[in-house]
Amino acid sequence: MTGKTLVAENERLFFHVQEVIQGRRRFENAAQGVSRMILEKGVEKKIHAGRTVYDFTFFREGRKHLVGWYDEINDFVHFVKDAAEGGSAAELAFVLVGEPGNGKTFFVDYVCEKYRRFLARPENLKYTFKFIGLNEALGYDNKVAELYSLTFEDPMILAMNMFEDPNESKTMLSKVGFSDKDIETMYARQRRPLGASTEYLWFELMARFGGDVNKCLEHVQIVPVPMRESLGTVTGKYSAKDKITSSSVDLLGEESLQYLLLLPLKDPNKFDLQRGALARVAGSGISFWDEWFRNKKDLVQIALQVIQNRNIERDGFIWPIDVLIIATSNNDAFNQFVSDKDEAPIHDRCRICYVAHNTDYKLQMELTSFVVGSQKRTTILGEGMHQDPNLNYAVSVGVVLTRLLTSEKLTSVEMMKLAAGETAGEKGIKTLREVVDTANASPDVTKRWGQGGIGHRNLGKAIQILGAMHESNEGKCLFAKDVFKALERIILDYVPEAADRDKYLKDLKTARKLYREQVRTAIFNAYRDDPQAIRKDVMAYVNMVIGTDAENLGPDKLWKYKDPQTGEIKPLKIDTAYVDSVENRMGLSSNERRESFRNTIRKIYGQKVSVDPNYDFMDNQPLIKAVVDVRLDSDVAGAGSLIGVLANLTNEENMRIHNRMVGTMLKKLGYCLTCAKKTIEYFCEKDDES
Ligand SMILES: [Zn+2]
Repeated sequence: MTGKTLVAENERLFFHVQEVIQGRRRFENAAQGVSRMILEKGVEKKIHAGRTVYDFTFFREGRKHLVGWYDEINDFVHFVKDAAEGGSAAELAFVLVGEPGNGKTFFVDYVCEKYRRFLARPENLKYTFKFIGLNEALGYDNKVAELYSLTFEDPMILAMNMFEDPNESKTMLSKVGFSDKDIETMYARQRRPLGASTEYLWFELMARFGGDVNKCLEHVQIVPVPMRESLGTVTGKYSAKDKITSSSVDLLGEESLQYLLLLPLKDPNKFDLQRGALARVAGSGISFWDEWFRNKKDLVQIALQVIQNRNIERDGFIWPIDVLIIATSNNDAFNQFVSDKDEAPIHDRCRICYVAHNTDYKLQMELTSFVVGSQKRTTILGEGMHQDPNLNYAVSVGVVLTRLLTSEKLTSVEMMKLAAGETAGEKGIKTLREVVDTANASPDVTKRWGQGGIGHRNLGKAIQILGAMHESNEGKCLFAKDVFKALERIILDYVPEAADRDKYLKDLKTARKLYREQVRTAIFNAYRDDPQAIRKDVMAYVNMVIGTDAENLGPDKLWKYKDPQTGEIKPLKIDTAYVDSVENRMGLSSNERRESFRNTIRKIYGQKVSVDPNYDFMDNQPLIKAVVDVRLDSDVAGAGSLIGVLANLTNEENMRIHNRMVGTMLKKLGYCLTCAKKTIEYFCEKDDES
């Protein structure tokens, strides 16, 4: 073997360096990589709950993705960007603190998973190196003739540290083709010393070959960083462990008896750093510390040191590391840790990001669909299980209401609508912002916006309870109304504070009323055999209100208007009797009150329809309710008589109407026979009437 080249041409350090110069391989640290990965997908400006927010496309990709989280994502992206640019964030860890089950772990897992896939792309592959032929060069035992860089150092780090004098290394880099400017930037942002084990071997080789770099490099082979999730390389999750067994070894590694016997005493390769979680991600990886503050205090202290110094230290040997550290913690564990005065460094070394529960019920419906609709559900006997079309709405509204604060300025329903960007009568988004800002000024994190209520994990449990119910299995359907029983169970079993339980149970009552409104609308649509019946009637009212004001209105009360959705000119006969009865139903007794309500409708029309031509006022519950009542009066002489019809099926005509409605619900509205019948039954009961 002596005299032969052990390393293939394309595995040599200078080949790698050339590839970097040509832009075919990358030299970037963890923060730069993550930042590039996020920003290459672009960013959109959006209005959410009355504020302009940046929406990063990266977080919205794939079937299961982040929903909402506007502030938290924005904080994270800026943190990573600052670290990438060499700002103070480079010396901090990003810590997500919040209630259990609000998506913290999912967020980090999402970023890690995508980062692995990002690095697996050929143009982004990560490289490191190993020393080979050490048996020949340094007389090492055959078992240790090949040794990897213990911290997966980038080959460029070796290139930048080849000589004890940095100027010599710079000269060498400029000789192979780097511009002076590139060299300066590289040294300023990315240079770090070699790890103790690499430095030791490199300078042993230099001594052996009398400073002949090329000879030394015959013993250095460039290899891709092994990337398998199970190995915990590149991205690694360190979960808080049982208090007795966890130790610093889990993080930092320890001396290996095996290597100790084979290596010279002073060779730092005797440390098995890969036994620890950090070394495996030290080559521009992400270290994820889940439930960090549940660890023993001394372990947290070690971690804090790692954050600040960015190195692994064992017996005085030092290995600099390049890693993006993201941690999560529940409010409880975090508050307990911080309340101890000795733990002040936490705030110095961490960028704390308080994560709120999602409070936008429309976004919640998206999240809920991940839980409810992610797999095909079956009964205990393996038969397919249907989902009531109102289920998602019922459970989403139910959990979101528990997450809202009590305020004198807004009712919970007003708050819920405003948080989802809907209208809430006279109340505007400004009032909601005031409520949020006041709450967020509280030093007690648990009192802030979105820090209470039923979390996502408990929502999942509620769906499990629903799926396990006898009724669900018998009827082969998850009936929406039953989910309230399941949520009640969750509140009784999993909410420790009595005051919270009372509030949440009250919120469920409100949710049931909202669910009942949905049912009334669905029933009327079924009665009319048209899924859009109520929507059309609501829009007819709105258009009539706008038409009464129009200048081109003739004595025939025929108004021609342009449909914002289709752009077509449509004639509309203004039916003042209809407009009057809708307003009477809403209790608008005086002319002044009528006029003021109409003005609100015109104002909303002007604001909303210009932005969204499909806006249809279907978030205006009082208006919908009034329209349904008026139509029920005119079509079937009142809700009471439709209930009379549906409750008394011995009459042949009633049976005909009932069956026709069930048919519509099955064919056009997404119900199955079970939930169609149960929904009609519920409509006939007095439960949850507001
Ligand atoms: Zn069903």
